[in-house]
Amino acid sequence: MSKPKLSCSLCESPVDGRSLRSPQKLENRIIDLIRQDRPEWEANRGICPNCLETYRAKKFVGYLEAEYQKLSEIEHAVVSKITRRGRVSGVVHQEFETTMTFGERVADKVAQFGGSWRFIGLFGGILVAWMIVNAWALARHPFDPYPFILLNLVLSTLAALQAPVIMMSQNRQAHKDRMQANQDYEINLMAEIEIRDLHDKLDSLRFKQWHELWHIQKRQIELLEHLCERTANPETKVPAPTPYVPPEL
Ligand SMILES: [Zn+2]
Repeated sequence: MSKPKLSCSLCESPVDGRSLRSPQKLENRIIDLIRQDRPEWEANRGICPNCLETYRAKKFVGYLEAEYQKLSEIEHAVVSKITRRGRVSGVVHQEFETTMTFGERVADKVAQFGGSWRFIGLFGGILVAWMIVNAWALARHPFDPYPFILLNLVLSTLAALQAPVIMMSQNRQAHKDRMQANQDYEINLMAEIEIRDLHDKLDSLRFKQWHELWHIQKRQIELLEHLCERTANPETKVPAPTPYVPPEL
């Protein structure tokens, strides 16, 4: 008896009528996907298993892509590094210092010196010397007589210049810390993913072992039964047990 041959409504290849899947039985998501590709498709004839598989795969790829879109920028970076089997950890300090401009280097040095006991001692010394020179040493013709107005001007100018330099340096430090924190997050995320991967591997190994153990035990029971049977009836010839076939995994 020959089976009725019909054609798939998508790829038009002739197939067995029974293997065609009618559009009423398809999921809405798959129908939407087919409509996207083939707007002219009328859902009145069935589609073949090959086309169904193609659209099912498309549906799952769509789900995965939607999940991927939900990830943050850092997670995207980690995913792409994992797919490339690359390393996440790097040296932020070196990376940062190679991109620093001359002005930024100077700002760092100034901020570092301005925030040290050395600077306080040196500056205190200069202040005291200025006052002594103007009050006693040059008592006749001081260049900045009491109450040291020029010294005041010098001090306020210095403070006005130092503040933005320190802020510049702090901003850069904050940026560097942020980069470091991002990198730490990436490393943690990667480690978490790798550990989960290892867990899966161990689980599958354990499952394999259990499966093998179970097979071996089953085999031992078979052999014992065979021995019992042979000792119980030594006259009759008991057929030898079937050879052992290791389990397939
Ligand atoms: Zn088809």
